[in-house]
Amino acid sequence: QGKAGTGMAGASVKVAVRVRPFNARETSRQAKCVIQMQGNTTCITNPKLPKDATKHFTFDYSYWSHTSEEDPHFASQRRVYRDIGEEMLLHAFEGYNVCVLAYGQTGAGKSYTMMGRQEAGQQGIIPQLCEDLFARVGREGSPDLTFSVEVSYMEIYCERVRDLLNPKSRGGLRVREHPLLGPYVQDLSRLAVTSFEDIADLMDSGNKARTVAATNMNETSSRSHAVFTIVFSQRRHDRLTDLHTEKVSRISLVDLAGSERADASGAKGMRLKEGANINKSLTTLGKVISALAEAQNSKKKKPDFIPYRDSVLTWLLKENLGGNSRTAMIAALSPADINYEETLSTLRYADRTK
Ligand code: ADP
Repeated sequence: QGKAGTGMAGASVKVAVRVRPFNARETSRQAKCVIQMQGNTTCITNPKLPKDATKHFTFDYSYWSHTSEEDPHFASQRRVYRDIGEEMLLHAFEGYNVCVLAYGQTGAGKSYTMMGRQEAGQQGIIPQLCEDLFARVGREGSPDLTFSVEVSYMEIYCERVRDLLNPKSRGGLRVREHPLLGPYVQDLSRLAVTSFEDIADLMDSGNKARTVAATNMNETSSRSHAVFTIVFSQRRHDRLTDLHTEKVSRISLVDLAGSERADASGAKGMRLKEGANINKSLTTLGKVISALAEAQNSKKKKPDFIPYRDSVLTWLLKENLGGNSRTAMIAALSPADINYEETLSTLRYADRTK
C-alpha cells in the first residue's frame, strides 16, 4: 500500500477496521447503528447530533459484519485472514518480522478477530495463519530446505510480563536487551512445535492460564495485552556452493488491552494504576507506529526518535514494528450508538497509525 512517490511500496502499516454485529444486549435495547461502510471508507454519525457532519475515515480495509456471507461486503474470518494474515505470512517467508495488532474497546471483537471460535469458519487470524504456515512448510520442506517453528505466549499487565506457557510463572519476568537481537524477555518459554495441533494445544493452555489468573486477581483479561510470538527459521543448503544460510522471522500476534478510558471518577488504587498503564502503552504504541510511518513517508534515511522504550509492549515489539518488518493493525468497532464516543476514539487512533 506504499504511499505514492516514496518508492517503498508495501512498507507502511496496513490498517483495517472491522465492525461486529450487534450483541444481545444492544439488540434488546434497540441500539441504533452509527457506522456505515462504503468500499474501504468507514463513516460514523453522532447519534446525539445526527444533523452534524458524518465523519469519514479511509483505511486499507473496512470490514462489515451485519449481513450474511452472501453479501459481498461481509467480512468473514476467512476473508480477513486472506487480506491481512496471509500477506503477513508471505512476508515472514520472505524473511521479514511481522506484527498483527488488534485494537479496540473491550467487547468490540479483538479476540474474535485474532483467535476466533473453534467452530468451522469461525477461527481467527492466529489459528488460520498457523495452519497455513505448517501446510506450506509441509509442501516446501526438503533435505535442502528445513524449517523450525518455536512459539511463546506472554501477557503484559501493568508493565509486567507473565509467561502464559509456564503455569508456574507469576509475572514480573525481566525485560533485557541483546546487543544484536534486540529486546527480549528473560526466562520466557520458547517451545518448539512441529504441527498445527501442537500450537493449538499450547494456545489453549495459554488462554486458560490467562483466564484463571484474571479471575483469581479479580481483574479481566481485557486489561492486559496478550502477545503470541512465532519464531520461524528457514535453513537452506545450496548444493552447488555447499553454503548453508538461515533466515529467521518473528511473527507477533497481539491482542491489545481494551482501549476504553479508565473512568477516573470511580477508579482508585490498582484500577487507576491499571488504567494509566494501559493508556500509556496504547498511546506509546500509536506514537511509535505513526513515527515509523512518517519516517517512511518523508523519505528520511534515519527516522526521528522513536519512543520504543516508553512502554514494555513497544519495547518488546521493537524488532517487529521498526526496521525490517511489516505491520498490520485491525481496529475492532461496536456498531451501537451507546458506544459512539469509544468507537470514534478507536477510529481516530486507527486513522493516526496510517
Ligand atoms: P474483545 O476481545 O474486543 O473484548 P470479543 O472478540 O470477545 O471482544 O467479542 C465480543 C463478542 O462479540 C464475542 O462473543 C464474539 O464472539 C462476538 N464477535 C466479535 N466480533 C464478531 C464478528 N465480527 N462476528 C461475529 N461475532 C463477533
